[in-house]
Amino acid sequence: METSCLFCRIVAGEIPATVVHRTETTIAFRDIDPKAPTHVLVIPTSHYADVIALAAEPSAAADVLAAAAAVAEQEGLGDGFRVIFNTGPHSGQEVFHVHAHVLGGAPLGPMLAGR
Ligand code: 5GP
Ligand code: ZN
Repeated sequence: METSCLFCRIVAGEIPATVVHRTETTIAFRDIDPKAPTHVLVIPTSHYADVIALAAEPSAAADVLAAAAAVAEQEGLGDGFRVIFNTGPHSGQEVFHVHAHVLGGAPLGPMLAGR
C-alpha cells in the first residue's frame, strides 16, 4: 500500500466508498462525481500507477477487466457502456492508482467532448 495514494486508502478502508463489487484482487466503487447514471471505478487492490504498469502484470489486468464486465452486468448495463482508463497528462488522469471507469445507464453521446 502507498500511504499517500487515495485509492490505496480506500482499499485499506481508511476512506469510505460505496463498494459495489469485490474480488480477491479488485474492488469497485461508485465515483464521487458521477459523469453518467452509472459511474463505477474498478481498481486492483495492489497499487499500479496507470494502465501501462497494470498491463505489465497480465493476470492483474485480466482481473480488472473481468471485474469491469461483472460490474456492467450487475449494474444492468446490457444496452451498452464504456470502459475508460485515463492515462497521463493529455487524458486528465488525476488519481495515479489505475482505475477503469465503467460508465453507462443512458446513451453516452459522442466518444469525446466536442467531437
Ligand atoms: P481520473 O481523472 O484519474 O481518470 O479519475 C479519477 C476519478 O476519481 C474521478 O472521476 C473522480 O470523480 C474520482 N474520485 C476522486 N476522489 C474520489 C473519492 O474520494 N472517492 C471516490 N469514490 N471517487 C473519487
Ligand atoms: Zn494506490
